[in-house]
Amino acid sequence: MQPVKVPPAPPTPGSDLAKRLFGTWWRRQSPSRQDRYATLGPLVSVLLFLAAIISAFWYLRNEELEREQESVKRDTEIAQQQVRLRLIESQEQLIRMARDIATRAIKPDGFVQPAAGFARERPEITHLMWVDADLRRQASYSSANMHMQVESSPEELDRSLPMPHREGVPERTFEATQQLRYPTYSIPYLNGFGHWVFQLQVPLIDNNRFAGTLIAEYSVEALVRYFIPADVSNRHVVTVIDSQDKVLSSTVMLMPGQIARPASIVHDVPLAPAGNGLKLRVQGYRTSIGLISNTLFWMVAALSTLTVWMLLGTWRHMRRRLQMQNTLVSETNFRRAMENSMLTGMRAMDMEGRITYVNPAFCAMTGFNEQDLIGHLPPFPHWPPDRYDENNRLLQQELQGRSPAGGIEVKAMRKDGSLFDARMYVSPLIDPKGVQTGWMTSMTNITEAKRVRDQLSASHERFTTVLEGLDAAVSVLSVQQGELLFANRSYRLWFGAEARGHAALAGGESAPALLGDFGDSVDSFGGLPTQELTEAGSDPREVYVESLQKWFDVRARYLQWTDGRLAQMLIATDITSRRNAETQAQQQAEKAQVTSRLVTMGEMASSVAHELNQPLTAITNYCNGMVSRVKADAIEKPDLITALEKTAKQAERAAQIIRRIRAFVKRSEPRREPSLAANIVEESVDLAGIELRRRNVALHIYVAQRLPVLMVDPILIEQVLLNLLKNAAEAIDSAGLPLPRRNIELRVIPRHTPDEGGVIEFTVTDSGPGLKEEVIGRLYEAFFSTKVEGLGIGLSLCRSIIESHRGRIRAENLYNGATVVGCRFSFTLPVETAKSTGLETALT
Ligand code: ADP
Repeated sequence: MQPVKVPPAPPTPGSDLAKRLFGTWWRRQSPSRQDRYATLGPLVSVLLFLAAIISAFWYLRNEELEREQESVKRDTEIAQQQVRLRLIESQEQLIRMARDIATRAIKPDGFVQPAAGFARERPEITHLMWVDADLRRQASYSSANMHMQVESSPEELDRSLPMPHREGVPERTFEATQQLRYPTYSIPYLNGFGHWVFQLQVPLIDNNRFAGTLIAEYSVEALVRYFIPADVSNRHVVTVIDSQDKVLSSTVMLMPGQIARPASIVHDVPLAPAGNGLKLRVQGYRTSIGLISNTLFWMVAALSTLTVWMLLGTWRHMRRRLQMQNTLVSETNFRRAMENSMLTGMRAMDMEGRITYVNPAFCAMTGFNEQDLIGHLPPFPHWPPDRYDENNRLLQQELQGRSPAGGIEVKAMRKDGSLFDARMYVSPLIDPKGVQTGWMTSMTNITEAKRVRDQLSASHERFTTVLEGLDAAVSVLSVQQGELLFANRSYRLWFGAEARGHAALAGGESAPALLGDFGDSVDSFGGLPTQELTEAGSDPREVYVESLQKWFDVRARYLQWTDGRLAQMLIATDITSRRNAETQAQQQAEKAQVTSRLVTMGEMASSVAHELNQPLTAITNYCNGMVSRVKADAIEKPDLITALEKTAKQAERAAQIIRRIRAFVKRSEPRREPSLAANIVEESVDLAGIELRRRNVALHIYVAQRLPVLMVDPILIEQVLLNLLKNAAEAIDSAGLPLPRRNIELRVIPRHTPDEGGVIEFTVTDSGPGLKEEVIGRLYEAFFSTKVEGLGIGLSLCRSIIESHRGRIRAENLYNGATVVGCRFSFTLPVETAKSTGLETALT
């Protein structure tokens, strides 16, 4: 026999397929949808569970209801059976009794005994009555145990007895019995005691003759009380109702005002064999099966609601979590993008110093890739080999958390071995539980920054050195606060580190006062004057500082300070020595002018002596003449007077010459005053005339009419004119020209030139040999002279005098063809038009 090979149980293909299908479907769903399904699944199961519980309850309830109905029906039937048996049995007894009465075995007076015997065992019987066919009462018996009455009153009995000529229930029953000759039950009625009762009338048949009825009255209430089994009445409410559903008796007594609960199960059966419309009703109350009052149901419902509520809460929570997760993911992406894009290198280490992470910037910076670095323990590949010790020390410091907050500067090495400067900042890495797991180091390449910084500091140093080395005091004062923002060494040396010096240089005004000068033009925003800052107050001023006894050339400038504040910068240069030199030069110039005048006079001394000689000789001659004529007594008084007058005149002439020379020489301080050109010309020609006459040179003067007033020092201008005229005369004299050519012309005319404006031009033209080539270039040079006795300071002084009056002096040769026929010196003096007219009128 072949051994049967049992194949391994194949996997159930159906379940596998379903699993796979579900798996693919599930994976296709979006995460939010998965979440929704994951939440809705339990929710739906809870709802299904609740529905199952409800249907189970429903089913059980129906089941119980059916059982209850069954039990009610059964109980009803039991009760009916009991009552029926009892009634039938009583009916048979009554029929027997009725027969005995008919056969006269029982006489009316012997009725009580069998009646009592009958009623004793039957508490439902209230009365037993015997009436004949004519409705006469033969005998009656009232049950005592019902009413505690041995004898009923006739009136009460009357209600139950059929009476002739009365239409009541007993009468109608009697008639029916008479006709049917058969025991008949009456419909229920209220007897004389107010109880619901019904009668059974049994016909008395005596030889086929109707001889009356035996009437038994049943109490409905007693029937219910005695013949409904106790277990039935305990379970249910049993009532007897008439054909109109009126309750005649019940096992449950309602309190007055109490409303009967509507029964859920009702079962009616006729109260056989009475057949008089009475019905037995049994009502069942579902006490334990009410759905609403079922505790278990409510517990389940409450638990289900709680579960649903919690599921919904979970769902909401999950949705929130999902949102947070999404935010987290985008945050992570954002951070990663940021981290990848930034230039700062990041390196994470665990607590032992092992590299756990490096970002792309770190790799780019060092040239190593992630594999080279991650997992590496110190010494790291980017440490320069000659700096292991230093780097190790820094790392230990880092691991102990003692790195300075401002970062540390290190040298790092690239993969190719080149070095760069880096700055590293360290911060602890903390996990979500608050436990430190390592260190995060950020690294920036500061080679370029360091180079720039070094350059900057070098340039700053240069700048400071220059500023500090300046002989000028440089200070910057904030305009609003009056605070000294900068002061160089010279400033500190002269004024100390205080703003007072700045104020003194600024003209004794404090800076806020300077600001006040701007008034409305200062806008309220930055306190900056709206006018151009760099131009504000940039005019140089010369300031004397009393405390230092120094003169300063001060240049002020407004500028915006590095913090945006408006500041005033002053550059004060010590010009004391220059000032002193200038003063000295001026004093010397004055002295030179006086000296020059003295020299001129010295040069003219022989001419002056010659000039003075004439009047003195004349005086001597007059005096000698007069003396001899007086001695000889040959003079008449009028002649003497005439001679004396002539003598005085000559003396006066000599005195005038001396006065002029004194006036010309004496004045030393230059003083400008309104002067008329004609007066200046007259004075200088008077002096020059001495020289001209001696040298036999003729002077022709032309002065234009109504010339404007000049604001000049007349003595200095006279000096210039005298010099020019003297030079001209000397030139003519030295050339030894014949008399017709010994001429000088002096012209004074007003002119207007484009570059000088209105001027008065003085021109001295001579007919001399002119200026030689080599002389023209050095004409105004001091101490340049072609003359043997010449000092050569005349023309240089002339130029400085004219230029100090803002005029111009020039010299040129006059030509006739190629021959020089003379030379012309001319100078101009500006006319101060504003004052001139008024002065002119005042002087003329
Ligand atoms: P000084 O008269 O003492 O020589 P100046 O300064 O007055 O000094 O003159 C300088 C020189 O200019 C003279 O030496 C002379 O050579 C020349 N010079 C001045 N005026 C004339 C002139 N009118 N004609 C020719 N040469 C002149």
